[in-house]
Amino acid sequence: MTGITIHPNTTVLVLNSSYEPLNLASGRRAIVLLLKEKAQILSSRVIRLLNYVKVPLSRIVSQKPSRAMIYKRDGYKCCYCSRNYNLTIDHIIPRSRGGENTWENLCTSCAPCNVKKGDKLLEQTDMKLLRKPRAPYNKMQFILNDCKIDEWTTYIHN
Ligand SMILES: [Zn+2]
Repeated sequence: MTGITIHPNTTVLVLNSSYEPLNLASGRRAIVLLLKEKAQILSSRVIRLLNYVKVPLSRIVSQKPSRAMIYKRDGYKCCYCSRNYNLTIDHIIPRSRGGENTWENLCTSCAPCNVKKGDKLLEQTDMKLLRKPRAPYNKMQFILNDCKIDEWTTYIHN
């Protein structure tokens, strides 16, 4: 025994055997999984399944992103300079050059960076993306992106 206990009335983060966040479960459900030896306990609010569960490609990944979803994915920070205010959405390949509204082509940008980049391609500027924008890896990762429970954040940001 590990000595860690799960409270039945708490909400527990369930990780896949690969440590990828899978879903949230009640403490009660988590305890059942532990008793059936289908999961291992990592902390009082995190368990990990022992067998890998195949995750269907979630709808969120194929769906067109909204502005709010792009902000959320980028953690409400400019993708060029990390500023967290005066935010807009930048088309990395400008619309005027055929850039589309996709997860890969949209990023959060502060107004000054957006103005500086203007209608240019990234290669024509001295600006760099701090992170390559992509569709959220899975739905849970996206849902939990701005969660503030310390025990969970370790597993959410990869
Ligand atoms: Zn910026």
